[in-house]
Amino acid sequence: MAPYMDENSASNGTSTTTDKPTPSGIRVVIVGCGYAGLTAAIECTRKGHSCIILESFKSTNVQLGDVISFGSNSSRIFQRWPGVSEQLDPITHKSQCLKYKTWTGEDIYTQYWGSEEENFGKRYNGHRGEIHKIVYDHAIEQGVEIRLGQQVTEYFENDNEAGVISNGERITGDVVLGADGVRSKARQLVLGYDDAPKPSGYAIYRAWMSSDDLAKNDLTKDLVINGDSHTGWLGPDIHFLAASIKDGKEFSWVFTHKDERDVDEGWSEPGNHDDACRILEGWDPAVHALVRMTPPEKLVDWKLVYRDPLPTWISEKGRTALIGDAAHPFLPTSIQGASQAMEDGACIAVCLQLAGKDHVDDALRAFEKIRYDRVRKIQKTGETTRDQWHKADFDNLKKNPEAIKLKREEWVLNHDAETHAYSVCPDVLASLRH
Ligand SMILES: Cc1cc2nc3c(=O)[nH]c(=O)nc-3n(C[C@H](O)[C@H](O)[C@H](O)COP(=O)(O)OP(=O)(O)OC[C@H]3O[C@@H](n4cnc5c(N)ncnc54)[C@H](O)[C@@H]3O)c2cc1C
Repeated sequence: MAPYMDENSASNGTSTTTDKPTPSGIRVVIVGCGYAGLTAAIECTRKGHSCIILESFKSTNVQLGDVISFGSNSSRIFQRWPGVSEQLDPITHKSQCLKYKTWTGEDIYTQYWGSEEENFGKRYNGHRGEIHKIVYDHAIEQGVEIRLGQQVTEYFENDNEAGVISNGERITGDVVLGADGVRSKARQLVLGYDDAPKPSGYAIYRAWMSSDDLAKNDLTKDLVINGDSHTGWLGPDIHFLAASIKDGKEFSWVFTHKDERDVDEGWSEPGNHDDACRILEGWDPAVHALVRMTPPEKLVDWKLVYRDPLPTWISEKGRTALIGDAAHPFLPTSIQGASQAMEDGACIAVCLQLAGKDHVDDALRAFEKIRYDRVRKIQKTGETTRDQWHKADFDNLKKNPEAIKLKREEWVLNHDAETHAYSVCPDVLASLRH
């Protein structure tokens, strides 16, 4: 058997070069064309693996979704893809601070994104569909084969290959990556049983719209007429975040509240203004104006699905891995769901490169070892931040307003998934051999 490659002999390293990498001979079948699937495909292509993505949506629709956030840890991945950050810059949020208010509209604290934040590097917060289109187009440019309108119904693997049945066709490769989101079917193969999602106990109302009408209303105009702004209202077991984007011309708001109803696994359904406003009874009139001025077709009611952490993300034979939300759904208050999906893709591409075609099972196991604890720890931050905001002691905050600050942690934001994988993967692969 061929020995593992080390990081010095691995071509393409961490550079942004557009040179074609040496083909690795590894064929990767990816199910799902969200940020996990696309990143895995682009990163695998950068390492010389050949990739196909199978996606059930029939077209890429830029309307799908609203605001999504990428921390500096994943923005670093975008920046290695030639031309992508130049396209992201003009469409992403640019405010200098986050203003916290009480639910009745009293100022609590302003958190400035000063030099400390700049040291972490760029972040990209923008419209999910618009960013997705840029990344999708980049994947196509890099030679990733993407087949839309493909419903994957079955996963299988043996000692020599892994594969899926998609629209009745058998498609095989050296490995399969289940990047099929929070409703993942790939989980069944990996776990050996059906794993039902559970309600998180919370739901979200959310919207993305033009700022034109908000600019004419005295209650809301300050949020949009001075360029991009970011405001958070906090109340008992509810937080409401609002941001303007594209120099204040577009607007997005999201509010998280208790919801004990059962979850439909769909990511969204149309929302109702009266229901939303009822939950916000007694809140700042500006918040009510934002909800009332949202066009009905833009108001979304999204039940937050949660799943217990999985014991493993890797199938028994080691040829199928879960990545992104399929492996680890995040609460939005972690602000890391999409970033962690991207880190998965960057890491797995390196593991496959260093392990080589004859050891793809070791590559996937190394991927899990490298990623598992970090992901668990970051998942937890979603609960911590939610509790920090939803269970805030407002009397105490008057004395110590800084206690409301969103934590900006170096170990999360300074992480470089590709460089880290190159540095630790050789030892992890060696440990798997003993
Ligand atoms: C339509 C949509 C809108 C979203 N909007 C937002 C948003 O506004 N804000 C936000 O923060 N997060 C949003 N999310 C979630 C967010 O994209 C993810 O939490 C995060 O980016 C992790 O991405 P992922 O690639 O792991 O999963 P996802 O983004 O969920 O991607 C999974 C992909 O797999 C495909 N798929 C699933 N099953 C199959 C199958 N059997 N065969 C073929 N393809 C399959 C799905 O169609 C989907 O495109 C949205 C997700 C989706 C699918």
